[in-house]
Amino acid sequence: MNKVFIAPRRYVQGPDTLKEAGSLISAIGKKALVLWDANVKGIVGETLIASLKDAGIEVVDVDFNGDSTKGEADRVAKIMSDEGVDVSLAVGGGKTLDTVKAAAAIAGSKVVTVPTIASNDSPTSSFTVWYDDDGNCTGFESWGVNPDLVLVDTQVIANGPLPAFVAGMGDALGTWVECDACSQVTAPNLAGGTSTLVAMAIAKLCYDVLMENGVGAMKAVEANTVNDAVEKVVEANVLMSGLGFESGGVATAHMVANCLPSFPECHGLMHGHEVGFGVITQLCLDKTFDDEKRIKIVDFEVAIGLPVTFADIGLEGVDRERLKVIGDICGGEGSLCANHPFEVTSEDIVNAMIAADELGRERKNAAGLA
Ligand SMILES: [Zn+2]
Repeated sequence: MNKVFIAPRRYVQGPDTLKEAGSLISAIGKKALVLWDANVKGIVGETLIASLKDAGIEVVDVDFNGDSTKGEADRVAKIMSDEGVDVSLAVGGGKTLDTVKAAAAIAGSKVVTVPTIASNDSPTSSFTVWYDDDGNCTGFESWGVNPDLVLVDTQVIANGPLPAFVAGMGDALGTWVECDACSQVTAPNLAGGTSTLVAMAIAKLCYDVLMENGVGAMKAVEANTVNDAVEKVVEANVLMSGLGFESGGVATAHMVANCLPSFPECHGLMHGHEVGFGVITQLCLDKTFDDEKRIKIVDFEVAIGLPVTFADIGLEGVDRERLKVIGDICGGEGSLCANHPFEVTSEDIVNAMIAADELGRERKNAAGLA
C-alpha cells in the first residue's frame, strides 16, 4: 500500500481574518453560496457579507436546517446547481461544514470552510459525518478532496463557548496516540494509504502543543481573549488534528468515542468529549504505554475539564453487561481497535473502560476535584 498524505489547498488563521474573506475567496470563485444558521449569521454575518461584496462576489444566502442528513445535502446541492454558484462557504460548526462538503461534491462547487468554533477537526478534512432525521449518527463518507480554503478567525473562536473549545482539545488529544498506534502496525489511514513521516510529525506536534498551551489557552478563551496559546491550540485543534487523523489514522480512542452515542445518557456530549474518554480507554488498553505519560495525559484532561470518568459522561454506575455492547463492537470485525500491535477482545475493551474510569477518579481525587 502507498503512503498517502492529503490536506486542504490553503489554511488561513488569525484574529479578524473574516475581514479578508472576500480577497481570499475572489481567487476561488465569483458567486458564493453561504450556508449557516441564524445564530452564526447573527455573530459573523455582517462582517463576512461586507467582505464578500467589497470583493465583488455575489452571495446566495442559505439557512442551514440543523443536521448533516442526506436530504439536507441534496437540498443545498440543488440550490448550488440552480443558482450556478462556483464556490460554497460553510460557516459554523461541524454539521454545517459536513453538509456543504457533501453538497459541493454533488454539485461540483469549490469549498471554503469557516469554523466558528474549534470543537473538532472537520474543517480541513474530506469527510462528512452523516446523521439521520432523528439525530443518530449513521456513518461517514469521504469526498476524495479537501476544502479549497479553511478560514479560521481566532477572535470569533475565542468569543465562542468554552466547552466547544475544550472538546476540540479532546479530539486533538487522540491524534498522536492513535497515529502512533496505527504506525506500529502500518494500518491504513483515512486517505487511502498508509501514514507518512510528515503525518506522524504533525501528530506529535499536535500533542506537544496541547500539553504546553492547553491550560493557558483555556483560560484565555474563558475571558474571550486571543493570546499566543489560543493561536497555537486553535492550530492544533483544527489544522494538526485534522491532518493528523486523516493522514495518520485512528484507533481505539475514536472507536470507543463513536460507540458512546448509542447510550442515551451520552447524547449531550460533543464528539471531542467522547474522544477524551476514549483516549484514556486506549491508554489503559495498551499495557506497553508509559505509566508516567498515561498519568500526565489524564491530568491534562482533568485540568482542562474533559470528561475522565463514567460519571462525567453520564454513565455513573454502568455495569459490565451494558459496557459489553461497546466491547462487542470494538472487538468485532472491521473495528478500528485492530489498529494496535496486540489483539483486542470485547472483554479487553470492557476492562479498559473500567480501568479508565478508575484512573480518572483517582486523578480527579489527586487534583482535589472528586
Ligand atoms: Zn475526531
